[in-house]
Amino acid sequence: MFIVWGRKITRRTLGYVADFCGVCRVPRAFRMTRLGSVGHVYYISFGEGNLVGHERACTSCGAFSEADVNAYAGISKSSGSLESLKRETFPGLDAALEQRLALEVRVQTAPHLLSAEERMGLIFSPFNLLSPKVERHFATMRMDGGVALAIAGGIGLCFLVPAIGGAISPEYGPPGFLLGLVAGFGLLIWQLLAAGGRFMRKEIVPLLAQSLSPVKPNEAEIERALGEFKRAGHKIGKKLKAAQVIEAIRSPR
Ligand SMILES: [Zn+2]
Repeated sequence: MFIVWGRKITRRTLGYVADFCGVCRVPRAFRMTRLGSVGHVYYISFGEGNLVGHERACTSCGAFSEADVNAYAGISKSSGSLESLKRETFPGLDAALEQRLALEVRVQTAPHLLSAEERMGLIFSPFNLLSPKVERHFATMRMDGGVALAIAGGIGLCFLVPAIGGAISPEYGPPGFLLGLVAGFGLLIWQLLAAGGRFMRKEIVPLLAQSLSPVKPNEAEIERALGEFKRAGHKIGKKLKAAQVIEAIRSPR
């Protein structure tokens, strides 16, 4: 008998902390999660496992990254108002952000006066922050509306094609089933491939556009950022086209 066993990552929400979100470009509430590694047999496991790290995710845009729980004064049980969350979890946040917020003011008021280095830093940052979300998505096969419809359509074709075939001539019934099955599989594979593009278009491009819009990057700058991420082996660099990002930045939100 084949036994499926191994280790899997468990996640447990610890609470909320205040911090700066580089995608939203403002201080936000972040959900703090404990990551554990636990043994499983047939994906069934008990307990939260050995601590392997922490992760914080912006409650507004969903961008997540590794986190150091010791960097915060505490972890709040509820997100509440940002001001009270700041007091409880990161009282020095405003002082720590002074330089970054001054840069944000310059981005808003005089973007043309930013140095080339500052511009590239501001352009790279949201790609870097959204990259883990893209990696996690493509590491697992996920079902979305299109894939579910393809499965339903594929099953439907397995009944419909032999029924039509059988109505024309009884000998067309069995090959009709095979034809329906092949067409159904084709439909499913097409939708599984298209699902990746849909995820990027719906979940990543709007956030990138929102975050990059104050910097007003040109296509060559986006191209350069995507190229760097692609060379570093990040899927975000491979799954996007510069023109697609520019179009989203320029279209009204
Ligand atoms: Zn955010």
